[in-house]
Amino acid sequence: MMSFPTTGKAWTDVKQALSDAKKGDYAWEDGRLPVYIYYLDEELHEVVTQAYQMYFTENALGRRAFPSLERLEREIVEMSLSLLGAGPGAGGSFTSGGTESIFLALKAARDRARAERPEIRQPNILLPYTAHATFNKAAHLLGIEARRIPSRPDHRADVAAMERAIDDNTILIVGSAPSYPNGLFDTIPELGQLALKRNVWLHVDACVGGFLAPFVRQLNYPIPPFDFSVPGVTSLSADLHKYGYAAKGASVVLYRDAKLKEYQRYEYVGWSRGIYSTETFPGSRPGGSVAAAWAAMTFLGEEGYRRAAGIIMDTKHKLIDGIRAIEGLRVLEPSELCIFLYDSSDPSVDISAVADEMGKKGWFVGRISDPKAIHVAVNPAISTGVDAYLADLRDVVAAVRSNRTVGKVDFRTY
Ligand SMILES: *Cc1c(COP(=O)(O)O)cnc(C)c1O
Repeated sequence: MMSFPTTGKAWTDVKQALSDAKKGDYAWEDGRLPVYIYYLDEELHEVVTQAYQMYFTENALGRRAFPSLERLEREIVEMSLSLLGAGPGAGGSFTSGGTESIFLALKAARDRARAERPEIRQPNILLPYTAHATFNKAAHLLGIEARRIPSRPDHRADVAAMERAIDDNTILIVGSAPSYPNGLFDTIPELGQLALKRNVWLHVDACVGGFLAPFVRQLNYPIPPFDFSVPGVTSLSADLHKYGYAAKGASVVLYRDAKLKEYQRYEYVGWSRGIYSTETFPGSRPGGSVAAAWAAMTFLGEEGYRRAAGIIMDTKHKLIDGIRAIEGLRVLEPSELCIFLYDSSDPSVDISAVADEMGKKGWFVGRISDPKAIHVAVNPAISTGVDAYLADLRDVVAAVRSNRTVGKVDFRTY
């Protein structure tokens, strides 16, 4: 166990210790990590890190002290709203990530229900089976009951089943654009109709798709409607620290009607200091992540994001073609955006063993438990590793088949 150091060390030594610490991590720079990392290129990396450093010390909690951060946050929200089909009167907040964006949307829905439907004692929300686990985390913290509704056989939200599950205490329903596990879009227009018909809040979780799908659509790939252009969508989450290529700690939660944002607020006056009032979860917030996100958006513009989207789709097709060409593997259909799954089509090729062996070769292997498959979330950083990946995968599948290897990986952990 490390005890608190009595004396300090030279920065060169501290720096060396940090570089050494990283050595056992997966080499995302070599394209070996199809998750967690969203890296476009060296040029943008430089822009984002310098922007972060310019605001390294500032605290975005201090709105009176740092009006520039308030402006940058507002502009990030405005740019996001304009990208995602919002009309006049819409609003939103810059947050620390998808988890906070979703937490705040649920808090706003809960507190609106408390104000407008006080007869509801135990509010509930309805989630498709494939919606992100963080909805349950937020519901747990907020005292909301989260009900999972089995998805259709095609892994999309079963809207008819969701309609049957709505009761007098249902305050919100969810659709994903796309879902993180399966990579598929729920039918947001149908969910929007249901929300309007039954007067419930519809939250669209576009943490993955928000800053990617619009640009993939501009490249003429078919992308289903999912944003505020769809009637009935009340709020939407979109992660800037995923396909927005911002520094970690960056997302937005957006509302069709800016008035709903007021329900995010928490206020307390009964302490010695006076009014404590915040509209997001944390107190102190890094100014750097605001500046870095703003810098990424303004540096890249639509043009830059389209280029990134092109790299992602080309990389995905190269990987899918390569995997299809390996006997014993099967790519699951369809794949609508950046996420695809593959499994075994041959009883003598155990997919767990393939995952184990690829891991031993230094590839981080994403997994999904239902259906049991290997999960690839394509990002621009993996484009450099595609040929090496496919070559290793070919060898691994051949070896697993001839040795009848059975894997040990638990596909429920990822
Ligand atoms: C990543 C993700 C989240 C959670 O976001 P964090 O930034 O990890 O907190 C929620 N929903 C979807 C669809 C995601 O991909």
